[in-house]
Amino acid sequence: MAHPVIDADECISCGVCVDTCPCGVLELQDVATVVDEDSCAACGACQEACPAGAITEIAED
Ligand code: SF4
Ligand code: SF4
Repeated sequence: MAHPVIDADECISCGVCVDTCPCGVLELQDVATVVDEDSCAACGACQEACPAGAITEIAED
């Protein structure tokens, strides 16, 4: 399954990735958190949208 890898130290909790994801994969808790990994389409939109560069990769595993 694919999922974004979020660097919690870099995340500024802006919520942009949560709003950008078309699949409801992410939720803003203390920092952006993957809550529905099975729905990730590995589209990369969240990574592209993150203003802090906190989404380091879309991992396929
Ligand atoms: S890669 Fe796409 S589907 Fe997966 S969490 Fe990011 S925006 Fe959502
Ligand atoms: S877009 Fe980046 S900085 Fe903003 S909540 Fe998501 S991971 Fe954190």
